[in-house]
Amino acid sequence: MEKIRCSIQVDSGLARIAAKVMRVKAVAMVLGRTIHLYGASRLEFLSDIAWVRHEACHVMQYQQYGMIGFLTRYLYQSARWGYYHNPLEVAARKAEADPGILEGIEII
Ligand SMILES: [Zn+2]
Repeated sequence: MEKIRCSIQVDSGLARIAAKVMRVKAVAMVLGRTIHLYGASRLEFLSDIAWVRHEACHVMQYQQYGMIGFLTRYLYQSARWGYYHNPLEVAARKAEADPGILEGIEII
């Protein structure tokens, strides 16, 4: 199976807004196949394997649901259950311990 290629955008304006809203120092957010980072360098992100697996899971979720499908699900479920209990986040946290999640993904 062909790997899903994704890229990293450092110092992302979108991720900066997310960091402000969430009141955290560093944030990663996935939009399609791009991992937007703020407050962390590419190396800091890639050195944190659990973090990479977490975001890789979101990339897979985009593949599964499509851009609009993912975003509507994400917003709806966040509104319904909150960020922490959003099933898309629950799955991504579970993926942090799953080495297999990175098999289908290539980060360029
Ligand atoms: Zn997440």
